[in-house]
Amino acid sequence: MADGRGRGQRPQTVLEVIRTERLSPHLTRVVAGGPGFRAFQNNEYSDRYVKLLFADPAAGLEPPYDLETLRAERPEALPRLRTYTVRWVDVEAQELAIDFVIHGDDGVAGPWAATAQPGEPLVMNGPGGGYAPDPDADWHLLVGDLSSLPAIAAALEDMPADAVGHALIQVEDDGDVVDLVRPPGIEVTWVRERGDQALVDAVRALRWRHGDVQAFVHGEREATKLLRRLLTDERGIDRGRLSVSAYWAQGRVEDQFQAEKREPVGQI
Ligand SMILES: Cc1cc2nc3c(=O)[nH]c(=O)nc-3n(C[C@H](O)[C@H](O)[C@H](O)COP(=O)(O)OP(=O)(O)OC[C@H]3O[C@@H](n4cnc5c(N)ncnc54)[C@H](O)[C@@H]3O)c2cc1C
Repeated sequence: MADGRGRGQRPQTVLEVIRTERLSPHLTRVVAGGPGFRAFQNNEYSDRYVKLLFADPAAGLEPPYDLETLRAERPEALPRLRTYTVRWVDVEAQELAIDFVIHGDDGVAGPWAATAQPGEPLVMNGPGGGYAPDPDADWHLLVGDLSSLPAIAAALEDMPADAVGHALIQVEDDGDVVDLVRPPGIEVTWVRERGDQALVDAVRALRWRHGDVQAFVHGEREATKLLRRLLTDERGIDRGRLSVSAYWAQGRVEDQFQAEKREPVGQI
């Protein structure tokens, strides 16, 4: 099929890079669009995410990719999948933006974004999503790192002007502190300390507010585990008001890390 969809295959949106923008030393925005944008089915989640398909240029594949045939005939040429938040969608301009953490030479997506050029293809399926700020929450707590900064930034923009709460974001260095459009009642804390424990300490140090809190905690796997424990066991947040997701894991490529997500926790 024209969109790469055989039996049971997800439709692919094939975009091209329009421009890139260095937001900070460790964050690069890739804006993509073009005629393929019409196939993109937007949704209302702040944390809407897509699966990007990265084919090895040496494999000579043209998007959309026929994954079923590749799996059967050339499994070594299958594109690598990487998960990314759609930072914003501009339906009028037929463009969307993805903010990539630039985390060094290892990996597929980060190194690609660091040198992406206008005209290169950007192929995706999705979006999925699961969180949007609840306007009825008494207060909001958003905790993450550079990988979840795009989702946190989108959530802050989606909140009503009278929303209150805290956003805590762990950054690599001072250069990664960026301007966030947000309701004035949301206090932003940039956490410079490194390590899994730093965000936990920062959350523990907060002046805890009363009332119904809606929490969004996405980022590195070990940090999110510790934060989940703090928020449920110590702070008593109802699990239904807590969105927790591991976005990446130290020392793991995404393929391995996503496979581990499907295993019982004790076996990892
Ligand atoms: C729902 C969802 C939404 C996401 N949204 C975003 C987003 O908007 N922007 C974004 O940048 N990431 C986002 N991520 C995280 C991203 O998918 C992972 O960081 C992914 O591993 C990057 O792929 P890669 O090919 O660059 O590195 P991989 O090949 O997966 O990993 C190579 C090495 O780099 C390390 N590494 C991977 N990511 C990071 C990182 N962020 N910081 C430091 N080291 C790292 C790994 O531990 C590994 O050692 C999201 C993940 C999920 C599940």
